[in-house]
Amino acid sequence: SEVILKVENLKTYFNTYDGTVKAVDNVSFELRKGEILALVGESGCGKSITNMTIMGLVKQPPAMIEGKIIYNGQNLLDLNYEQYRKIRGKEIGMIFQEPMSAFDPLYTVGEQLFEVCKIHLGLNKKQAREKSIEMLKKVGIPSPEKRFDEYPHEMSGGMLQRVMIAMTLITEPKILIADEPTTALDVTIQAQVLNLMRDLQKEFNTSIIFITHDLGVVSELADRVHVMYAGKIVEKSTVYEIFDNPKHPYTQGLMKSRVQKFYKGKYLPHIDGFVPKATNFPEGCRFHPRCEFATEKCKTMIPDDFKAKENHTVSCWLYGDDKNE
Ligand code: SF4
Ligand code: MG
Repeated sequence: SEVILKVENLKTYFNTYDGTVKAVDNVSFELRKGEILALVGESGCGKSITNMTIMGLVKQPPAMIEGKIIYNGQNLLDLNYEQYRKIRGKEIGMIFQEPMSAFDPLYTVGEQLFEVCKIHLGLNKKQAREKSIEMLKKVGIPSPEKRFDEYPHEMSGGMLQRVMIAMTLITEPKILIADEPTTALDVTIQAQVLNLMRDLQKEFNTSIIFITHDLGVVSELADRVHVMYAGKIVEKSTVYEIFDNPKHPYTQGLMKSRVQKFYKGKYLPHIDGFVPKATNFPEGCRFHPRCEFATEKCKTMIPDDFKAKENHTVSCWLYGDDKNE
C-alpha cells in the first residue's frame, strides 16, 4: 500500500570526547499508510534517536544528520525550525513513555488542549472545549468535563497517558510515533492503552511507528517489524514472519530468550554478551562478537541487505548470494 514516510540512509552521529557515536547509521525504511510498524531493539540500539531525528528534535550541531526523511514530497531535513514545528504535532504526532513530560504542570489539562487546538486547528475556546471533551471520551476517560479542569498532577499515570494520546490525536495526525508509550504503566492499563491505539488507528487510519523493546507488545500490535541493533536495522518483515521465521541471528536470539524468560516469569529479552558501546561499534557486522555463526568476513565487512523472502530483508552474510560476487 501507499508509502507515507520514507527514511533513506539516515545517519545521526554525535561527536563526543570518546569518539563519534554513530547512533543511527544508514537506516532506511518505509512507513505505509494505516500500518503499525514496530521498531524493536534493546536500549541503546538507536530506535529512540531515529524517532527523535524524524521529529526534528535532534539539534545539529552538535549532531550531524545525513540522509533523507521524505514526507509529502519534501525532505523534512531541509525544513527550517518554523516549518518543522508546523508539521510536528499537526501532521506527525508523538507520544512517549513519560506522560508528565508532555504537560506543563502549571496549566490545567484543558488549557493545554486548548493551546493545541488553537495553534494547529485555529479553534476558539468553546470549540476547543467541545472537541477536547469529545476526544477525551474517545480515549476512555470517565467524566471528561471534570478532567478538563484538572492539573496534570491530579491524574494517575494511566489517565495522563490517555490524555496525552488524546492531545496528540486531536489534530488527527497522519503519522503517530509512539516511543515505549506503555513501558511505565502497569499491565492492565498497558493492555487498555494498546487496545486504544489499535482502535484509534482503525478509526483515523493513522500510520504508527511503535518503538519498543517489548516483544509481547509487538506481537499484539504490529503489522510489520523492523529489528534494530547497534544503530542499524538488521531485519525487516511482517510480524508473523519475524516471530515464526526469524532469520537474523540476533532476532533468533531475541526470540529464543523470550521463550526462556517467559518460563521464568520475566519479560525482557536478553541474550548473551553485551550490546557494544556506541563509541566503539565493532568493524564489519556489529553483531559479530555475539554471533555464533560469525566468519572472518563478518569481522571486516558490513553485511548488505539481502532478500530472504518476499517482504523479508536480512542484513547478514548468511543470506548473501556469494555466487554473484
Ligand atoms: Fe552473524 Fe555474520 Fe550474520 Fe553478522 S553477518 S549476524 S556475524 S553471520
Ligand atoms: Mg528509548
